[in-house]
Amino acid sequence: MSEVLVLVEHVEGQIKKVTLELLTLARRLGTPSAVWAGPGYSAEAKARLAEYGAEKIYVADSADIADYVVAPKAELLAQLVSSASPAAVLVAATAEAKEIAGRLAIKIDSGVLTDAVGIGEGLVADQSIFGGGVNVQSRVTKGTPIFAVRPNATPVEAAAGAGAEEQVTVAVSDAAKVAKVVDRVKEEKGARPELTEAAIVVSGGRGVGSAENFSIIEKLADSLGAAVGASRAATDAGWYPHQFQVGQTGKTVSPQLYIAAGISGAIQHRAGMQTAKTIVAINKDPEAPIFELADYGVVGDLNQVVPQLTDEIAKRK
Ligand code: FAD
Repeated sequence: MSEVLVLVEHVEGQIKKVTLELLTLARRLGTPSAVWAGPGYSAEAKARLAEYGAEKIYVADSADIADYVVAPKAELLAQLVSSASPAAVLVAATAEAKEIAGRLAIKIDSGVLTDAVGIGEGLVADQSIFGGGVNVQSRVTKGTPIFAVRPNATPVEAAAGAGAEEQVTVAVSDAAKVAKVVDRVKEEKGARPELTEAAIVVSGGRGVGSAENFSIIEKLADSLGAAVGASRAATDAGWYPHQFQVGQTGKTVSPQLYIAAGISGAIQHRAGMQTAKTIVAINKDPEAPIFELADYGVVGDLNQVVPQLTDEIAKRK
């Protein structure tokens, strides 16, 4: 079976869950080979990648790769596509990896399908397009197909792979050196799971009413071990930080459960959350468009419904 390259997403050596999802998906398409780019590779990283089916691990851990933003990673993948002739390349549908995928497609003269939520027979992708308004089946018809797959779209399954390591050196070209990382600011993490990786997300919108009142959204999220999200109306009002905005111009989430409180369900918000497995809407307006999308809806004032829900969950723990 042909190799399927999986670009590993990692932060300070910690492998993100989406990589395990990509390895699980890659096993259905061929033989997964993980591609580690940048510093931080360790014995634990190797063990984790092998645990989820990586037969081979290409390691390019020079600092250069991380220092010049995305271009060297695209060069690394292009080099591997040329030497290994894989059946496909999988990356996560994150802002950075989508940029890498686009650059790679140019370099290897092929096509890239973004926001894939599944890949089936004949490397046909289920793709969520036009801001999430339409789902289509698409196939790359030229060269080695590249897929940017949404986090949380594939349930993770472990299956041991050989994890055979191969060191790779990539000569970072002058063209790739035009943009250099000058500083890194650590995002405040807190105790909650990361928004794009969380299995449950509780989001608040304009209906929350104020920054202070977001505490009821946070309490519900904490009772469920969930991440907190927000609509653009809430982030623009300064009630919640922009990094938690869900939607077309914010983050894309695909959790098992998405609870939208005081959010009307504008198309730009839907674009970031409509592939969630189960959607619960809490809104005082029975005509709110979010109810068209929701699996469960509560018509009521969130100031009453959300604390009641939090209490009820606490009782059942
Ligand atoms: P509203 O639309 O004002 O809805 C508030 C809802 O709260 C209403 O349905 C109301 O009935 C309900 N409500 C009020 N009080 C209560 C209460 N006490 N209890 C229960 N329910 C209550 N938006 C995003 O979210 N993410 C994006 O990434 C994004 N990108 C955009 C990009 C572009 C180019 C543009 C033009 C817009 C974008 N928007 C985005 C904005 C989007 O169009 C909407 O304006 C926004 O999503 C509305 O946020 P909201 O649902 O919180 O507010």
